[in-house]
Amino acid sequence: MEFETKCLHSGYTPKNTEPRVVPIVQSTTYVYDSTEEVASVFDEPTKSLIYSRFANPTVMAVEEKIAALEGGVGAMCTTSGQAATLLSILNIARAGDSIISTGEIYGGTVNLFAYTFKKLGIETIFIDKNASDEEIMKAFKPNTKAVFGETIANPALTVFDIERFARIAHANNVPLIVDNTFATPALCRPIEFGADIVIHSTSKYMDGHAVQVGGVIVDSGNFDWTCGKFPELVEPDESYHGISYVETYGKAAYIIKARMQLMRDFGVYPAAHSAFLLNLGLETLAVRMQRYCENAIKVAKFLENHEKVQSVKYPGLESDVDYELGKKYLKGASGVISFVIKGGRETAMKFMDTLKLASNEVHVADIRTCVLHPASETHRQLTDEQLVAAGIEAGMVRFSVGLENIDDILADVKMALDAVEL
Ligand SMILES: *Cc1c(COP(=O)(O)O)cnc(C)c1O
Repeated sequence: MEFETKCLHSGYTPKNTEPRVVPIVQSTTYVYDSTEEVASVFDEPTKSLIYSRFANPTVMAVEEKIAALEGGVGAMCTTSGQAATLLSILNIARAGDSIISTGEIYGGTVNLFAYTFKKLGIETIFIDKNASDEEIMKAFKPNTKAVFGETIANPALTVFDIERFARIAHANNVPLIVDNTFATPALCRPIEFGADIVIHSTSKYMDGHAVQVGGVIVDSGNFDWTCGKFPELVEPDESYHGISYVETYGKAAYIIKARMQLMRDFGVYPAAHSAFLLNLGLETLAVRMQRYCENAIKVAKFLENHEKVQSVKYPGLESDVDYELGKKYLKGASGVISFVIKGGRETAMKFMDTLKLASNEVHVADIRTCVLHPASETHRQLTDEQLVAAGIEAGMVRFSVGLENIDDILADVKMALDAVEL
C-alpha cells in the first residue's frame, strides 16, 4: 500500500459483518474462560490482552497504523509526547549512563533531559548539530546509550541531518532516536535515513484537530542490541520469568521490552477514546500535510517580502540556511513558521492581538491557524538578555499555518501587520 492508503487502511481490517470503523473498546479488562488461560497470558503477555494499562484493541490498531506509516516493526502509544520521549530513553539508559542530544529540541524535552534526567542519574551531553563529525565523536563516552535529535526542531525550525547522525551513532554502537513530530511520516520517514527509534507527540499534526494529547514510540527493528552495550535487552529479565527480549522477540525486542517493563511499571497508556480520535486525524494525515506545506510557503514568502518583518525562519524558503537539508529530508517544510517583527516585544504583542482569524494559543500544528509569542508566553520567565541567549528575540512570533483558505490567512496577517506602527 502507498502512504495515503496506509493512512486509511493500516491497523484495522474488518471481517464479514464487523464494524467499518475501528471500534472504541473502552474497557479496562478482558474476560477468560479459565484460570489456566489467564496464567498462560501472564507467561506470554504478547499472546492476548489482560489489562488496558499496557494494551487495548483500539490503541493497538493505531499503533499498528503508525508503525506502518513510519516503516517500523512495532509501535507503542503513550499518554503524551513527553511520556514517549521519557520511555524511549529509559528503555535503554539507566542511572550512571549518558545520552547525547542536539540543543535544538523542544523546550519540554530540554527540561526532561537537563533537569529531570539529571536527578535520575542520566547525564545529557548537549552538542551543536553543526559541529564537525570529530567534535561530535568526542562527546561519546563508554556509558553513552543514545543520540537524540528532532527532524524539524520545535521551535528553532532547523533541519536535522539524520544520515550523518545515524552514521556517527552507529560508529559508536548507539541507536539514533529521532523526534519526528513536526515532519510526520508524510514528510519524512527517518528510518529510511538510518534512525533506529522514532518518536512523536501525536498531539500535533498526527491528531491535527487539537482533541487529544498523546505520544508514540516506533521501533525500526534495525538496531543490533547484541553489540555489547545493552545487556538489559539480551540478558534474562528477572521481572519477567527470565525472558531475553532479543532471543524471544528478535527485531521487536526494544518495543516489546518498552511495553512489558516500562508501560507495566509507569502506566502511561492512552485511553481507547483518545486513540479513536487520533486515528481520525491519521486517516487524513497525507492530504492535510500537503495543504499545510502549500499554505505555509505562501505565508513565509509574504512575510519575507514585508517591510515590517525583520527575518523569517522556514526551511522551505530558498533563503533559509536549512533549505538544502530540507530538500534532502523533507517532502515539504510543514506548517510552522517563525518570524521576527520589527520593533520588538511591543509590536509583536500588538500584531498578535490584532489578528482575527489566527488564534492566540499555546499549541502548534492545529488544523486552525494559531500564533504564539514566545517572549511573553512560553518563555516569559526569561529576561530579554536570556531570550537572546536562547535564540529567541523579543519580537519573534511563532506562526502555525492552518488549513483555512490561503487568502483568508494572508488577509489576516496583512491586516495585523498594517495595524502595527514602527
Ligand atoms: C509538543 C512536542 C513534544 C511534547 O509533546 P506533548 O504531547 O505535548 O507531551 C515533544 N516534541 C515536540 C517536537 C513537540 O512539538
